[in-house]
Amino acid sequence: MIAATILAELSTLSASGQQVQTKMPVDPNELKPIELSPLDAPTEKKSGPLPTPLSPAKRIRYALVGLGHLTLEELLPAFASCKYSKVTALVSGDAAKAAKVAGQYGIDPKNIYNYQNYDNIRNNPEIDAVYIVLPNSMHAEFTIRAAKAGKHVLCEKPMANSSKEAREMIDACKAAGKKLMIAYRIQYEPHNRLAKKWTREKKYGTVKIIEAVNTQNIGDPAQWRLNKKLAGGGALPDIGIYCLNTIRFLLGEEPVEVQGSVYSSPGDPRFKEVEEAVLWQMKFPSGVQANCTTSYGVHQARRYRCYADQGGWFGLDPAFAYERLQMEVSQAQDKMEVKQSPSLTEENQFALEIDHFSDCIMQNKQPYTPGEEGLQDHLIIEAIYESARAGRPVKLEKATRLDATRGPEPKES
Ligand code: NDP
Repeated sequence: MIAATILAELSTLSASGQQVQTKMPVDPNELKPIELSPLDAPTEKKSGPLPTPLSPAKRIRYALVGLGHLTLEELLPAFASCKYSKVTALVSGDAAKAAKVAGQYGIDPKNIYNYQNYDNIRNNPEIDAVYIVLPNSMHAEFTIRAAKAGKHVLCEKPMANSSKEAREMIDACKAAGKKLMIAYRIQYEPHNRLAKKWTREKKYGTVKIIEAVNTQNIGDPAQWRLNKKLAGGGALPDIGIYCLNTIRFLLGEEPVEVQGSVYSSPGDPRFKEVEEAVLWQMKFPSGVQANCTTSYGVHQARRYRCYADQGGWFGLDPAFAYERLQMEVSQAQDKMEVKQSPSLTEENQFALEIDHFSDCIMQNKQPYTPGEEGLQDHLIIEAIYESARAGRPVKLEKATRLDATRGPEPKES
């Protein structure tokens, strides 16, 4: 739960037109959950405390940039589950769609921008942060423009089209004194966080091998995801990144060697510019080996398993879906192999991720998944492509410590 001492940041315009921050204390009573007497017997699973949302006037205010599938299907509905965040502005190339969405979600039409007048968000004190949900090639430009306009940036994965762009985004946000977080929702999702805890605490012994798969059968060949200039690459930066990023998150380590191979079905009109499939292996300094598969050309599968050396393995299937994630455990017990499917109370992972960023803005903390976390994925993706081109393993720089590219842990929900 958010600390009782936090101060909500309120943006106002000074006489000179410059954005200034004023602080308003949050009443600790507002953060205390209401207590209701339990309905079930004491032997039943305990329910968590009731949510303690901040009053709307004290929440961090977001402009959503790009009104496509993710924004309309997941993010706008997810804000209803947010406790510290709300949407106050929209940025879109389609004025009619933006007006309709503004009406649906009670957003003031004066807070609608397009890609040309986007820089004018600088003058809008009703926007604290932007959430970039555009094709990958546009992430760098719209992050840098937001930072220059004095706004914090939450940016979708993959962070950019290259490590060079990722560095430029980090530098621009640093220069502007604004926070940058990459939207790795899995790192805030409770089942994946439990798998990370089991990995780090060696619940079933030392994890020595991890296998991860993220595949889907992509449709329309004309979509931006299959255009190299807009997407940067194919299955690897779009969905393979979940295997890569989640394994790094589970271990806290960085790979020191990768080896990959890239394949596209000859003649398939979907894969003229970007790859269909990538299979790759990663070696970690502790000796863990990971085997990963991603493809745009087969039926969907979104899972991983961590194989440990003291009588058990565990994982999630599905692991990377938006909802209904399922843990699996297989464990030796006496003369039996016991398989279990433990589950936690489901929470909206987008809301957890967005509220973490808002919490970081309110408390002036570094996000758990800052720009450096996105940059590291790009460096590894580039090494996997290089390995596939050269037909040999590629070495990577050794990290100096665990979780070297992450900020302080998010609050457990
Ligand atoms: P969509 O194609 O559905 O939406 C992208 C939106 O960007 C469009 O609707 C459009 O909005 C705007 N846009 C601006 N210029 C272009 C252009 N040249 N071509 C196409 N769209 C353009 O993509 P998604 O919503 O699926 O993905 C957006 C981002 O979110 C990507 O970076 C993707 O990797 C990421 N993503 C992350 C997921 C996650 O789970 N974290 C899941 C899905 C996607 P408008 O009409 O308003 O201008």
